[in-house]
Amino acid sequence: MTHHRIHRFLTEHAPPTPCLVVDPAVVTARVREFAAELPHHGLYYAVKANPQPAVLRAVLAAGGLFDVASPAEITACLEAGAAPESLSYGNPIKKPADIAFAFERGVRIFTTDSEADLEHLARCAPGSSVSVRLRVDGPASATPFGAKFGCSPGQAVDLLRRAAAQGLDPAGLAFHVGSQQTEPAAWDTAIATSAKVFTELAGHGIRLRRLNVGGGFGIGYRTPAPPLSAYAATIRAGLEAHFPGGAPEIVLEPGRAVVAEAGLIRTEVVLVAQRGGHRWVYLDIGRYNGLAETENEAIPYRFEPVGGPGGPVGPVVLAGPTCDGDDVLYQRTPYELPLALRPGDQLDILDTGAYTTSYSSVSFNGIEPLRTYCLD
Ligand SMILES: *Cc1c(COP(=O)(O)O)cnc(C)c1O
Repeated sequence: MTHHRIHRFLTEHAPPTPCLVVDPAVVTARVREFAAELPHHGLYYAVKANPQPAVLRAVLAAGGLFDVASPAEITACLEAGAAPESLSYGNPIKKPADIAFAFERGVRIFTTDSEADLEHLARCAPGSSVSVRLRVDGPASATPFGAKFGCSPGQAVDLLRRAAAQGLDPAGLAFHVGSQQTEPAAWDTAIATSAKVFTELAGHGIRLRRLNVGGGFGIGYRTPAPPLSAYAATIRAGLEAHFPGGAPEIVLEPGRAVVAEAGLIRTEVVLVAQRGGHRWVYLDIGRYNGLAETENEAIPYRFEPVGGPGGPVGPVVLAGPTCDGDDVLYQRTPYELPLALRPGDQLDILDTGAYTTSYSSVSFNGIEPLRTYCLD
């Protein structure tokens, strides 16, 4: 992805750093690319990746739908012009009051993975469509979900039978192979497991119709990720192999792959210091004001010095500006920056449209949330 429009904005306006600049045209292009590469019955953009109104409108303009996780995200989507039927409440962790809020506003599609949540759905969202989230144990992604979400195939069968018995519409299954998943084979494993649940439920007279293959599609940060076409090929092959009688409706729930490449963060060097034989570079952005995904150095962003200084480069430890000892971005992942780098020099951090603003704290050390500018 090139960032001409973003660079032009930064040159013309020179906003104070740190800031994120988002180009909604890239969001629209990515949603269309999903439709072209992986035909589907709905792309539900995961709002948590970047809930900026301009991003939501760009998704909508490209025919996208929305995966929401809270009343506030529902409100944001409705205010951006989305119809309530185009919202899917995908978070399995929700209060009865949150379910009631969604139902009152017309949301009728939910995901669950527990008995208690299913009971709340039956009570607060009667008659709604329910998909059950399976836990998938494939290859680990850059930011895996671990054991927090999803149930076993046996539990999924049980939950969907209960859903039917309680007057809900047992629509299908959902899974998420982990965010920034660079192994397309992870989808094959999950589709195989899903197919077994479809078959078992058919034996109980319940015909599921929908398979939500989640998000997790990776993008190239410092190293390339598979292109969307490679993920699509693996998913198509998996459906053919594991659903020989015909594939269910496929729905997608990408977040990162829709919005990451639409954003660029500009930051300034606060300080350069030699400590314990390492050159530490402190930026005005860190773990708490936009770069939360550097936790465990999970996401290795790409940094580009702005307009020089060029010249020879050398190793650095990269850290954020706060007084917190964990506010270190990279000390194990090798990074090199120009030896001439000085306080006041600027860097661009590429492909930072996803999981940056939305993770930014309110006022840690008095630092304001990451300021975001969306281009027209
Ligand atoms: C976060 C999330 C997504 C989006 O995941 P990406 O890795 O950003 O594509 C999709 N579905 C659910 C339920 C999520 O929690």
